[in-house]
Amino acid sequence: MSGNTLTATVVGGGIAGLAAATALARAGWRTTVLERRTGEPEVGTGVAVPRNGVAALNALGLDDGLLASLGHTTVGTGFRDTQGRPILLIPDDIEEVRHAVTIRGFDRRRLHAALAETARAAGVEVVPGARVTNLTAGAPGGRRASVWWRDPAGGEVLRADSDLVVGADGMWSAVRGVLFPGVRPTYSGSTSWRALVRDTGRDGRLFEFWGPGAEFGVMRVSDTELYWYGYVRAPRGAVLGDELATARARFDGWAPEVVDLIERTDPAHLMRHDVYHLGGGLPTYARGRVVMVGDAAHAALPTMGQGAASALEDAVALGALVAAPVAEGADQAEAMDRFDAARRPACRNIARQAAFIAKVGADLGGGWRQSVRNALLRRVPTRALALAGSSAVGWDPKEY
Ligand SMILES: Cc1cc2nc3c(=O)[nH]c(=O)nc-3n(C[C@H](O)[C@H](O)[C@H](O)COP(=O)(O)OP(=O)(O)OC[C@H]3O[C@@H](n4cnc5c(N)ncnc54)[C@H](O)[C@@H]3O)c2cc1C
Repeated sequence: MSGNTLTATVVGGGIAGLAAATALARAGWRTTVLERRTGEPEVGTGVAVPRNGVAALNALGLDDGLLASLGHTTVGTGFRDTQGRPILLIPDDIEEVRHAVTIRGFDRRRLHAALAETARAAGVEVVPGARVTNLTAGAPGGRRASVWWRDPAGGEVLRADSDLVVGADGMWSAVRGVLFPGVRPTYSGSTSWRALVRDTGRDGRLFEFWGPGAEFGVMRVSDTELYWYGYVRAPRGAVLGDELATARARFDGWAPEVVDLIERTDPAHLMRHDVYHLGGGLPTYARGRVVMVGDAAHAALPTMGQGAASALEDAVALGALVAAPVAEGADQAEAMDRFDAARRPACRNIARQAAFIAKVGADLGGGWRQSVRNALLRRVPTRALALAGSSAVGWDPKEY
């Protein structure tokens, strides 16, 4: 690379895009984020960030003091049946286990705003209302990558040429659509309600309940808010008249805390999305001068709660394996291959584990299946299980 400043265009300003842009700018790249939205991200939802995600946030410059002011530290407690009876409880008196299941809960808007602020402070330019419509991948050491996007002001189509493009435009990625047209999101068979409810009670731990074709989870995201989700089997694109009444009916007869939370939900703050995933993901995360990150590359089922964390890990890896070495003169193609080799197997692994958890958890049908599953899981030594599940959360930014 020459002594000229390297340039990067990041498509999408969600968690993955803002974090990736921060990593690039900190390594000295002139970085622009093109974000099609003009306002804040969706209202009314929380996000659970496990330990590896917190480590990645720290590595990107959001220290523990800041994170403590943005969210709430809590722990996973395991799984219960519809009546709240334990199926698989995670012991909270073993330090090693407690450490593995510690989670930070955030109001999604607060985390997003902090990431946007961190990116701007690092020198990133964020262009809101800029929808990317096409791109060419270029070639490392050769042609630069080009991105076409609609100017928010005049609606005119503009072109940005850069040394690197980051595809961070989420589940329905336009970048992926151009470079990998054969890889499309698959409907999971489930839809998910999500809401924040005002609450100042003391217990903010993550409680998860499994029932026939459904899962309900609740955790604290601030001193005054609980976040809940209700994940249920449903036909794709189902149109429900009264969302809150339908959620209430679907979880009717479940444990009192589940029923109570739905009852206390402001209908204006209830959201529902059909849940899609990318199955096997992409054949490579690096093509030409483009790297793919976050949901655009590897959207997994939400049952592992690793979506945001793996997007944040991608950003740290991008900084360490591509942005910094290439700025110091390393070969870009080789650096991008290293990124792919580091990230693809790890994300494939998470997607596989998430699919397995869905199969034995939220997707499992009713009747004998529930009682057999519950009886089997009640025999599993939970300490061993909690630690086995900690492979993903044990990620350390220093491994790059
Ligand atoms: C029901 C559910 C619950 C979940 N719960 C959790 C959880 O508790 N913990 C967790 O870690 N993860 C969770 N996830 C997953 C997590 O939300 C995602 O993995 C994470 O938000 C991915 O971030 P991203 O930046 O890759 O994508 P996104 O957040 O989708 O961001 C993509 C951005 O790109 C923009 N964009 C799209 N197209 C264009 C375009 N053409 N031009 C310009 N901009 C564009 C979009 O506006 C958006 O801002 C959950 C997901 C679901 C569905």
